[in-house]
Amino acid sequence: MERIISEIKNTADKVAKKSGELVELSKAKLNIANIKTDISSSYKILGEMIYIAQRDETEVNPEKLEEIISKIDALYERLAEFNEIANGLMNKKLCPECNKTTDSDALFCSVCGYHFSDTE
Ligand SMILES: [Zn+2]
Repeated sequence: MERIISEIKNTADKVAKKSGELVELSKAKLNIANIKTDISSSYKILGEMIYIAQRDETEVNPEKLEEIISKIDALYERLAEFNEIANGLMNKKLCPECNKTTDSDALFCSVCGYHFSDTE
């Protein structure tokens, strides 16, 4: 009886851990979606700046240009961070060669055949 109860508890713990991971994963995915939206709107702003400058035959304000470009850079960095979190939660890893995800315990990339143990 003791044993059964402890097994039930173990299973419950696993389920709780699993659902906690699912919450984390959906949070990471939501962040990824939001960041992608931010990147798109930043590109839109950048495009408009260039369009207006070209149309009015003026120069794009270099400070504003720098600002939007560093914003896009920062967004890509955050995107990479959240992608890594999401991949970890899904037991996936990123191939450094082709940037596709593959199972975290795989020795070779399923897309390009990259040999993971070379780096690990
Ligand atoms: Zn690959």
